[in-house]
Amino acid sequence: CNRPEETCFCSAFGIDASNPSGDVTAWRMGEDYYFSANTKKGEALLASLGDVLENCADDAVEQIKSAVKAVMAKLPLANTSFEGMKKDDLLTHFKSEKWSSLSEACIGCGTCTFVCPTCQCYDIREFDTGHGVKKFRCWDSCMYSDFTQMAHGNPRTSQLERFRQRFMHKLVYYPDNNEGIFGCVGCGRCISKCPISMNIVKVEKALEVQS
Ligand code: SF4
Ligand code: SF4
Repeated sequence: CNRPEETCFCSAFGIDASNPSGDVTAWRMGEDYYFSANTKKGEALLASLGDVLENCADDAVEQIKSAVKAVMAKLPLANTSFEGMKKDDLLTHFKSEKWSSLSEACIGCGTCTFVCPTCQCYDIREFDTGHGVKKFRCWDSCMYSDFTQMAHGNPRTSQLERFRQRFMHKLVYYPDNNEGIFGCVGCGRCISKCPISMNIVKVEKALEVQS
């Protein structure tokens, strides 16, 4: 990531955009690509490319990292922190009066869930192939009124409940069950795409203020 968007706040989750992890890290500068192996698997991959690659100057990658870090430091959400969410317990967040005003303008379009790399809600559907019935899995959204439809209906009957579920899942339930890790990577996609300009940073700030 050498062109961070101004809606990005991945540093809030300890992610260093200038130095991503993986078996191989790749950086791009102009027409050139630089690769660095981080694991044995990565070393084997780069070695398998043989003469396609050539060694670069020692400071080439450092220059790219410095440039990315400089951009990251100036982003509007650079100082975002979600640690304040951990001050209150689950029920305090769940019962917060803030959900009403936060969710008031949400039109339930589901855009925030479809652009989110950590959202995973899905539906199971069936179709007749002409030779039998096949089941298939497809994307769905917890923001939709017919999501998780059961015999008695949707367990969350208002948009407030559906809105609260999405953010409680990412900011409270998921960390509670996964050693404090939030269900968000700070990519900022939901910030740039929501038609009512609602997003996870606004929710965090609203909930944190009450504690
Ligand atoms: S900022 Fe977080 S909640 Fe929003 S789209 Fe990215 S990962 Fe999902
Ligand atoms: S993108 Fe915005 S309006 Fe659409 S469901 Fe998400 S929070 Fe609601």
